Amino acid sequence: MISAKGYAAHTHESALELYSFERKDPGEYEVLIDIIYCGVCHADFHQSKNEYGNTKYPFVPGHEIVGRIRSIGEKVSKFKENELVGVGYFILSCGYCQSCIGQEQQFCENGITPTQNGKLQDGTFTKGGYSDCIVVNENYIVSVPETLNQPGAAPLLCAGITTYSSLKYNQIVAGHKVAILGLGGLGHMAVKFATSFGADVTVLSSSAAKEDDAKKLGAHHFVNTSDKEHFTTLVNTFDFIVDAVSAKHDYNRYLNLLKKDGIMILLGVPPEPSTLHAHSLTGKRRKITGSFIGGIEETQEMLYYCAKHQITADVELIRPNEINIAFERMIKGDVRYRFTIDMQKL
Ligand code: NAP
Ligand code: ZN
Ligand code: ZN
Repeated sequence: MISAKGYAAHTHESALELYSFERKDPGEYEVLIDIIYCGVCHADFHQSKNEYGNTKYPFVPGHEIVGRIRSIGEKVSKFKENELVGVGYFILSCGYCQSCIGQEQQFCENGITPTQNGKLQDGTFTKGGYSDCIVVNENYIVSVPETLNQPGAAPLLCAGITTYSSLKYNQIVAGHKVAILGLGGLGHMAVKFATSFGADVTVLSSSAAKEDDAKKLGAHHFVNTSDKEHFTTLVNTFDFIVDAVSAKHDYNRYLNLLKKDGIMILLGVPPEPSTLHAHSLTGKRRKITGSFIGGIEETQEMLYYCAKHQITADVELIRPNEINIAFERMIKGDVRYRFTIDMQKL
């Protein structure tokens, strides 16, 4: 066994605390990774507070991992020791269902094993990247280009692939009018990718203070959603709305801003359900859909795209013992635009 340490929540009410545990030695097809950086996703907060009702404690969050391979199992052929690699939201899927064969492992019909809070065969639960090391099968890691800024690359493993995949799947290209709702970790990556794909991008934000940042990130327009008149003037404006809001909100207000046949793509997963009025869709044949991270091959493609176009997340680097303050600030919307934990400071 390998001695590991990290930060864990022990109940839904407790702060994250330093925690020692063991990881199993890498099997034949597994690699042991020394974690260098781990991004802080809002899902980490949702789950540490048991907002979806399925968190198993002690809970070690973290699924935006960049690290170097310390050692490899004897049959590993895709990676070598010392390579810079990434681990995202899941560390295993069945490998043989239609989704897995089609390189959409995130939709594995037999269920993925998430990097955090995922049930393992021995009945224990996976512990994520707010820790010093992790063991993962070689088919579920990706190569991280050395030219990328490493703290900024970590959030690409979830916020990056989630937004990239949703834009690609929905074929968002130059000429489309795209609104990004919620300028947080996912939202700011959606702005970067959508502008890079040539779309005309509007940020819809409840934070007036984010206007300058939105423009610096590349957005062409900024709309403060606290200002109610926009919900009248912007009716029938957008081809797509990418919804990256973490808290409950009224979908109908935003659906009305879509053109005929416009599509609202849900990325945010608020813990409470929201009411949907049929007429928000019927009158203009609008659609509402969702998207969930991305497959391994697509994650690799996204990282190469980011290296080519010099895209990384805008991050505030924190020490591991600052994670509880970071959680508090994330809830207040006070993050520009992702926290990354320097796991070497553990
Ligand atoms: P985040 O950095 O905290 O950003 C969320 C943003 O939502 C905030 O910056 C804020 O933007 C807006 N917001 C928050 N509370 C709000 C409220 N009460 N009313 C209106 N707007 C509010 O979170 P994140 O890490 O980007 O994650 C966003 C959501 O996506 C979370 O629910 C997360 O679990 C989910 N997620 C989904 C996937 C997937 O595969 N589908 C992957 C990762 C994360 P403004 O200040 O601009 O309004
Ligand atoms: Zn995430
Ligand atoms: Zn599968």
